[in-house]
Parts: sequence; C-alpha cells; structure tokens
Amino acid sequence: MSLPPVRYIVEPTDLAGHLFSVRCEIDAPSRDGQSLSLPAWIPGSYMIRDFARNIVSIEASADGRAVTLEKIDKHTWLAGQIGEGETLDLRYTVYAWDLSVRTAHLDQTHGFFNGTSLFLSVAGKETEPCLVDLRAPAHGAIGDWRVATALPEAEGMAGAAPRHGFGLYRAENYDALIDHPVEMGDFTLGGFEAGGVPHEIVLTGRHDCDMERLCADLARVCQWHIDLFGAPPPMDRYVFLTMVVGEGYGGLEHRASTALITRRADLPWRGMKDVPDGYHRFLGLCSHEYFHSWNVKRIKPLVFTPYDLTRESHTRLLWAFEGFTSYYDEVALVRSGTIDAEAYLKELAKVITQVTRGSGRLKQSVAESSFDAWSKFYRQDENAVNAIVSYYTKGSLIALALDLQLRLDSNGDKSLDDVMRALWRQYGELGVGVPEMGVFEVVAQIGGEALADWLRGAVEGTDDPDLGGRLEPFGVTLARDAATTPSLGVKLKPNGDVATLATVHDGSPARAAGLSAEDTLLAVDGLKVTRESLDAMLDRHVAGDTVAIHAFRRDELMRFAVTLGEGESTTKLELQATPSALARHLRMGWLGS
Ligand SMILES: [Zn+2]
Repeated sequence: MSLPPVRYIVEPTDLAGHLFSVRCEIDAPSRDGQSLSLPAWIPGSYMIRDFARNIVSIEASADGRAVTLEKIDKHTWLAGQIGEGETLDLRYTVYAWDLSVRTAHLDQTHGFFNGTSLFLSVAGKETEPCLVDLRAPAHGAIGDWRVATALPEAEGMAGAAPRHGFGLYRAENYDALIDHPVEMGDFTLGGFEAGGVPHEIVLTGRHDCDMERLCADLARVCQWHIDLFGAPPPMDRYVFLTMVVGEGYGGLEHRASTALITRRADLPWRGMKDVPDGYHRFLGLCSHEYFHSWNVKRIKPLVFTPYDLTRESHTRLLWAFEGFTSYYDEVALVRSGTIDAEAYLKELAKVITQVTRGSGRLKQSVAESSFDAWSKFYRQDENAVNAIVSYYTKGSLIALALDLQLRLDSNGDKSLDDVMRALWRQYGELGVGVPEMGVFEVVAQIGGEALADWLRGAVEGTDDPDLGGRLEPFGVTLARDAATTPSLGVKLKPNGDVATLATVHDGSPARAAGLSAEDTLLAVDGLKVTRESLDAMLDRHVAGDTVAIHAFRRDELMRFAVTLGEGESTTKLELQATPSALARHLRMGWLGS
C-alpha cells in the first residue's frame, strides 16, 4: 500500500511546557513553492481565533537540507522550492494550554487537541488522504495513556494503531482530519450501542461518575435521535470526549464525536436518585451535540460546503442550526423518558424568562444575530443583553412555536420532526448544502406557505412568538410571576463580596439614575451593601421608593438617586390538571406523556 501524500507525526514532547511537536511530510509539494496554513476558526464556533498564533517555532527541510520558509500572512507560510522527487518536511511546535473544546491542551495528566490547532493545511492537497502518527509521550506522563478519537485507525498498514492505542490513523482529506478531535491520557472509558453502532463515552479528569447509569441514559437519548431521523445513524461509531473539571461547561460538535467540558458535580453518582438539575444539564449538552451529528454537521448551510477557514463565513441560518438543536436537545430528553414533563417545562420556562428579559431581542432578529455571530454573539460585552438576541435561546422558542403550530394545524399528524426529516432527506443525506431560503421552502412543503411566511417573519423580525396561546391547546398554561423584590434592573457580577454591576438594562431604574456597568455599589441609603445583601436591602422597599446609592466609578465616588421599579417577572409553565381529550392527544405527541 502506498503512503498517503500528506503525513503528520504528533508527539506530546513537553508536557510541563504544554508543547506538542508536529512533523508534516509532503510528497510532491507545489513546484512554485508550497503554501501551508492553519485555520483561522474551527467549524461550530463562529469566531476568528487565529490558531497559528500558538505555533511557537517552525522550520522546513528536504533531504536533510534547510528549506526557506517565509511567513506571508497571520496564518500562512510559503516554503521554498525543493528538488524533484524530494519530500518537504515541516517541523513545528504548538503551545497547548487552553482548556476549551475549541483548541488544544497538554500537561502531565492528558493531551487534547483539535486538528485545527495542530495540522497545517497543505494548499492544493486539501482533498488528498492523509496519515497521522500519534506518539505516546516519552516521559513525564501520569498514568497509562491511551487514545480516544473517532479518527479511523490506519487499518492494514504496518504500525496501524489498535483501538484506543497510539500509532497510525488516517483521514480521507483535510476536512475529515480536522473534524476528529483527539484525547490522550489515563481516562475512563464507557461504551454502549445505539442504532446498531458502537458509542463510547470518555471521561478525563477526576470524577466519581456512575458509568453504568450514564451509559444507560445516553444509550436511550442517542437511540431517540437515531429513530427521529431513521436508522442507521450516519456514522459507524461515535465518541463523547469529556473533560471533567470543578467548574466549566462547553461542547463542540463533530461528525462522529463531540468534545465536552463538564462540572464533576453534574455527572451521575452511584445511588443518585432521579435526574438532578446538574445531570439534566449534562445530558442536555450530550443530547445537543449528538443532534448536531445530523443538524449542522450534515444538514449544513450552503456557505459551509466547503468551509472557508481563512475568514468569517456568514449565514443567516444559525437559528435553524443552533436554535432548532437547542429545542431538540431537551425534547429528546423528555420524549425518550429520561426526564419527565414537569422537568422539561421547568427548563423551558427558564429559557422563556431569559429571552424575555433581554431587550436586545427587540432590536436584533435571530437572522441578524446569526449573520453577525462572529462580531456580536461570540464577542459579547456588557451591553449585549440590550443590543443582541441569542439565536440559540430565541431560536429554540421559535422552533417550539413552529412545532406546536404544525401539530395544531394537523391535529397532531405533522410536526417539526417532519421538517427535520425532510431537511435530512433533501440536503443532509445527499451532502447538499442548505441555501439561505432552504428551511422556509421545506417548512412550506410540510406546513404550507402561510406557515413558512410566519416563520420568515419570526426569524427576520423582532416580535416575541406567541407561546402561551399555542401551549394552551396542549394542556399547558403559561403564566408570569412578578418578583416581590423591587428592582434596580441590573445584573451583578457573579463572584466576590462586592456588588459590581455586570449589566445595566435599558429602560431600568438604574439606567434612569445614571448607573453604569462596572460601577461598584458601596451603600444603599448610607448603609454598606454587598453582593449578598443587596436583595435583602431592596426587599425592605416597594416599587416607587427612591433610594440613595453610593458607588465607585473607577476610583471616583458618586451618588445616585434610584427610583425602584417593579420586580422582574418570571415565566411559569404548568400542566393543566384535567386537560381535554384533544389536549391529551396533542401533548402525547409533543412530549410523549
Ligand atoms: Zn450547538
């Protein structure tokens, strides 16, 4: 068997210094000088990150002779010409000390990387197969390291990695190469089957997880997703790569795996009863990334086929790819019987409350939020809540409204499931990108033109979708409770003793009085106030009272007279005690109970 023309060797050489050494060998490089680059962003996380900034040193050679390497922009190098038949040999080190699902991390306990951080893209050879030699650290590693990745082993080649071992792996092209993150370390490995396909869950970091419980729950959730789109699933194995930490949360989807970060306390423990909120959150994260295996990894915007990883890639459709996924991550939990309807409605009510509190939703549509994800949603500042809307949360509420409306219009015969399946058949399964109007067209096929027009208005406009009116026929009542504590209309920074303002809401009492984000509150009516005591102090007042607030702006003391507003309202969703037969029928289809 001949060697693929692009070969990488990855070695975790300096664990304490967090350095991966990478070698890239290229057969028959471009005759005019070979161009090499690292991506500026990683698919699924819509922000320019310039991964090349973590390349510490780089050199090129051929046949043992140095070859010139000129850096021509922030992430591109140009290698000088080499002789006919020679192999260009790049050697570089990459600094890996960012504990996120988007980049790379290396120390004595484990190594994790996304290909976008480590593998130089070889211009002109992006579609060629490549080979990856994953090497174990020579010294300094704690525990017995293994490898977890959905990257296929180089079966049939001398030196091919055994399952979970170091050695040779392969990728059909560069796009596949960077879509299989790699974890190496002394991890815990669990396994289960769903849709006839092996699934693994890998936990790195200290934990006391009840693996049996976790595998049983994930098997049920994954099976639900597979049944929704139709078996078999579009991958022949799947891996949940999970970093367990004290505090942290994150996930990034890939075609046959996902990289996750979770709190240790969110994992199930032996003897745990029911589904505590933390575990609910973790299962929701797994469910979200797994749904992405279809929605965004295969049913994907036309502009992502192929990805242009050198610059921002704009689409107005992230409400469909992230919002619909955020809707289905919870729906999968309730309809698979993993959580009950009450737990589902409690979580849904929280999302409605959160979306409704942000006045940014009145200024930006989810289509605009999608388009500007790169410069706004991913780069939020203290004014974000007043200026932008989340295509995740508001997108999930639009998905809910659409699902309920489809069910109402058809007496429960049709639903958003039919839309997802049609998107799968017409785009995902065929490997065809979804044009910017594609989702509306599919909704029109399933639910008619009028519903497609409504959807277009909902995603291009800023109105709140009517949820209460659509939930009522399903035997669910939406109500709003106003808090009794009068409000300043601010959000405090979450940590520390002092009450520092993270955000001041537009139209709030604090804004009217002149308070700003970053102001540190010192006293209310002459008495010292802390982050902990602020609500208790406000509780002794009623809306309409004016209080004197002393605060530092930078190091300058200022005084503000704040006329308190009504307490902020919270959304509540309740199952009606005696729903009609029709409501029971509709609710059974929607929530499965
Ligand atoms: Zn997502």
